Amino acid sequence: MSSRDDRALRQSIVTACREMTAAGINQGTSGNISVRVEDGILLTPSGLAYDQMTPDDIVFMDWDGGWTAREGNVPSTEWRFHLDILKAKPEAGAVVHAHPTYCTTLAIMHRGIPAIHYMIAAAGGNDIPCAPYAQYGTAELSRLALEALADRRACLLAHHGLIATGVSLRKALWLAVEVETLARQYHGCLQIGTPPLLPDEEIDSILKRWGQYGLRERKPQVSAPAAGG
Ligand code: 13P
Ligand code: ZN
Repeated sequence: MSSRDDRALRQSIVTACREMTAAGINQGTSGNISVRVEDGILLTPSGLAYDQMTPDDIVFMDWDGGWTAREGNVPSTEWRFHLDILKAKPEAGAVVHAHPTYCTTLAIMHRGIPAIHYMIAAAGGNDIPCAPYAQYGTAELSRLALEALADRRACLLAHHGLIATGVSLRKALWLAVEVETLARQYHGCLQIGTPPLLPDEEIDSILKRWGQYGLRERKPQVSAPAAGG
C-alpha cells in the first residue's frame, strides 16, 4: 500500500468514528473501528476522544497481534475480535463496534432482533442474533461474537452493544445504522405487543434478490486520459 493510500484509509476511520457519534449510534469513547489492509488491520486506539483523533493515532496491527502505534496510544481493548473477525471472514473489509442505545437495550435483555422488517436481510439472514455475555476485550467475547456472526454480518453482544461488518468501512457503518434502526423499531413494537414476523421463506426469497441492495458505493472518479495523445 502506498503511504498516500494508508493516509486516506486512516482518515476514513477517523471520519467514520465521528460519523458514529453524529448518527447517534455511539457516545463518548465507546466503540471502535478496524479496516483490513494487506498485512493486517488498521484499528482505532483505546480510549481516545473521537473529536481529538487524527490519522496518526490509528494503530497498525499485524495478523499475529503485533502492533505499532504513536507514543501514548495502545490498540482498542477489542482488538482481539476485530482481528479474529477479519481473519475468519475474508469477505469482510471492515468491522464497526458501537454501543447504540436500542441495540444495547435489547442486548441487555439477551434479545436478538427477529424478522420484523425486510431490512433484517441486510445482516444476511432472518434475524440478528445476540451473543451471550463475556467481559469486554476478552478472547471469550471474541469467540462468542464469531459464533454469532457465523452466517451473519452483524450481531448484538449481551450487556454490551453491536458489531457490524461490511465489505468496506462505508458498508459496515451503513449496516450499523440500519441495525440500530431495526432495534428501535423492534423496541417500539414490543411496547404494543408481540410483533408478527416475516416467514423464513419470505426472507429466503428476499436474500436471493438482495445482491447489492442497500447502500451503493460510488467508485472513485478516474479522469480519462485526453484523447488524441
Ligand atoms: P476502546 O476505547 O478500548 O476501543 O473500548 C471501547 C469499547 O467499546 C470496549 O468494548
Ligand atoms: Zn464496546
